[in-house]
Amino acid sequence: MSPSKTLSIDFEKFYNIIDGKQRGSDKIHHGINPATGQELWDVPIASEQDLNDAVAAGKKAFPAWRDTPIEKRKELLMKFVDLVGQYSDELTTLLCKESGKPRKFAAIEVAGVGGFVAYHCSLDIPTETYEDDEKTIYTEYTPLGVCGGIVPWNFPLILSVGKVAPALLTGNAIIIKPSPFTPYTGLKMVELMQEVFPAGVVQVVGGNNELGAQLCLHPDVAKISFTGSIATGKKVMEASAKTLKRVTLELGGNDASIILPDVDIKKVAPEVVMGAFQNSGQVCVATKRIYIHESIYKDFLQEMVNFTKTIKVGNPDDGDNLLGPIQNSMQYEKVKGFFADSKAKGYKFAAGEPDIAASKGFFIQPTIIDNPPNDSRIIAEEPFGPIVPTQPWSDIDEVVARANNTNTGLGACVWGKDVEKAAKVARRLEAGSVFVNSWEKPTPQATFGGHKESGIGGEWGKTGLLAFMNAHVIHVYKS
Ligand code: NAD
Repeated sequence: MSPSKTLSIDFEKFYNIIDGKQRGSDKIHHGINPATGQELWDVPIASEQDLNDAVAAGKKAFPAWRDTPIEKRKELLMKFVDLVGQYSDELTTLLCKESGKPRKFAAIEVAGVGGFVAYHCSLDIPTETYEDDEKTIYTEYTPLGVCGGIVPWNFPLILSVGKVAPALLTGNAIIIKPSPFTPYTGLKMVELMQEVFPAGVVQVVGGNNELGAQLCLHPDVAKISFTGSIATGKKVMEASAKTLKRVTLELGGNDASIILPDVDIKKVAPEVVMGAFQNSGQVCVATKRIYIHESIYKDFLQEMVNFTKTIKVGNPDDGDNLLGPIQNSMQYEKVKGFFADSKAKGYKFAAGEPDIAASKGFFIQPTIIDNPPNDSRIIAEEPFGPIVPTQPWSDIDEVVARANNTNTGLGACVWGKDVEKAAKVARRLEAGSVFVNSWEKPTPQATFGGHKESGIGGEWGKTGLLAFMNAHVIHVYKS
């Protein structure tokens, strides 16, 4: 049960939040509950004027927030953590409805909001001093101004707070633009924040892709923190280049997992399956290609299949379900394309069926494709759904090359009993976050970012704070 509530917040009405106030719009849209196909509540679409007003309010709020001592900023951030705790049940229900994810996982995402903010409040802004006979050099960091945070639909809450927490801690103002597919928790989180932060410091504008593009073009926005697809990331960078905004791009990936021959098959196979199918595969760092040593290929795949067959898929409210639906119809059709292609090419379905059963929601049973060729779509592209290929390997250099043979480099995993050996392989994988003996579990304590086309820069962790600041170096010469 959530702790007692200090505010009365309506969890069935949604507003943009501009300059500390709720604002509606002539234009509205709504999300669809992907588990039932039902329309959810109306949400306002922000106009260009709404965006301009938000940027102006952010600009007005910025100097005082920048000059607020960091200890005070931390105090307010922790007050917000307390508020989220009070409304965690309501936020969890909202997240289930907009995303379709099972309640236990939605609850973990909501709890993660507090964890993200609390971790950031344990950090301080780094400084560096250099001194010689002639001078002292102080390397300090100052906030950028008004930042824009553009968020996708797979983790609408955690990916919003992952931008808000470092931005506010470092003294920036921020405007969040949620995905039009999952606007609800992002809008409500920022509404809750108004109880804590001065007007204009944290705002939210709901809308479609065009609004995201306007945010990137706005001359008074200093930085865009973007999480989404590679194709959109390129557009964000192009639009942001017009005013040379700072950009952090957290994009897609095609993560490889390498299974070394000495693993405990019974223990590791289910874990690898979880890495592939967590959140129905709709995770930027889900395992998307599995390379199993040939000496254990058959047995390991069999254990993966056995575990996959036990996974229940369905409505968020049934506690037995491990996976929910695909979040939206566009993505559902895209994932179905990988099934159709694999069926047409005659690939072997080790678990799951080539034909997806019709249902009211966008449900897909988790599916494993046994040893498709290297140039197959399922190996070469990111499906972002519960379908994963396995291939055998025999030579470590060759499999490392195969894992790295992609334009992406977001995450990767290596599994092996000999941890040192596994860690050695991990260091050869071209990816921003490599996990040894775990599936991909990004955490606020570690900087998160991609190599190659998986992104530019990174956020979270100590280093991630720098993404929201300019270096401001003061050279003081001794008289
Ligand atoms: P998307 O790129 O379609 O949309 C992401 C956001 O960008 C949405 O809010 C959208 O409205 C906005 N947008 C769309 N066009 C825009 C434009 N021209 N200018 C500015 N903003 C625009 O991505 P999606 O389908 O919502 O998310 C799925 C993708 O995100 C996958 O590829 C996944 O791998 C990736 N992802 C990456 C990370 C990461 O941290 N690296 C995390 C989650 C998801």
